[in-house]
Amino acid sequence: MKLWKLTAPHTISLEQSEPTSLTEQNNIKIRIEQVLLGKYDLALYNGVAKGKYPVVLGKNAVGVVSETLNEHESPFQKMNRVVVEPFIPCGQCPQCLEGSFTKCANLLELGYNEDGMLRDFVDLPEGCCHKIPDILSDEKALFVPYVAFCLNILDSLDIPKGTHVAVFSSSKIGIIASQLLKYYQCVPIFVSNDEEALKAAKELGIFYAFNTETDDVKHEVLVATGGRLCDKVIYFANSLYSIKDVLDCCAFNASICIGGYNTVAGNFPITKITQKHLNISGIYNGCGNYPSAINLVATNKVNVENLIEKTISFDNLDQELQSLESTDLGYKSLLVKVD
Ligand SMILES: [Zn+2]
Repeated sequence: MKLWKLTAPHTISLEQSEPTSLTEQNNIKIRIEQVLLGKYDLALYNGVAKGKYPVVLGKNAVGVVSETLNEHESPFQKMNRVVVEPFIPCGQCPQCLEGSFTKCANLLELGYNEDGMLRDFVDLPEGCCHKIPDILSDEKALFVPYVAFCLNILDSLDIPKGTHVAVFSSSKIGIIASQLLKYYQCVPIFVSNDEEALKAAKELGIFYAFNTETDDVKHEVLVATGGRLCDKVIYFANSLYSIKDVLDCCAFNASICIGGYNTVAGNFPITKITQKHLNISGIYNGCGNYPSAINLVATNKVNVENLIEKTISFDNLDQELQSLESTDLGYKSLLVKVD
């Protein structure tokens, strides 16, 4: 087996390891075919985001089943194409013992605090694998984890139809969330500092798309909502945009969901939150919503085309990562083909 191990910021090496045997816990072996690397993976590589070392990067991956522990009982067969859900419940916390695995308090996150997908073979629990239907390409299936993540955010906000929802994001995730809002008959207001992403959003039918660099965002949101501001707001924590300014777009009593991790330190404006009586929640994964996400991507309810910047081969990964600027992979991802 071969894998790329990150041992320190900017230091990644190709290692060989002995073949592994399946266990009761890790009862399915997947041959990884493609891995998608995005902004957060690059931040971990650069050391901008704090992670553990050594670690194998890579969260979003598709592959084929190469072996199962219980061939006759497994819902999977050899050569089934699967998308990997890169979160593993601990199996020991009170929530896991009650069977609420999606609420696990010690979720292992592959590619962050547990070894991820930049390798040729991986052993996983079957519950982390989801079959890819024939009509869905591997390239599109790689974006399923993003869609599942956004679905969990939408679920947590419980948004009535027709609601204006401001989405603050500096990456592709904002376009995906905006498309989902539109599909569920809400009115997304996409706010970003990335002109290319804003243009793509408009082409996908997102009518309100504002640039934090050139537009007066609070004014635009006031106009778009007829002076009411937004009752529901989504703020992706990797946005290059101050949360103080995000709160300016919230109506009194609004709910705001913060998605993902913050790679830029910042103060939390407590006074603004209390004075506006805001409800704040947080979501960082798509656990529980993978089957719905697969369906939405397979039926083109969410368009994930044109979100790949470049395709590279597994063996050239170190050179390719070295050549990237820290601001790269914002709106588009890097696709790594494992052979
Ligand atoms: Zn647990």
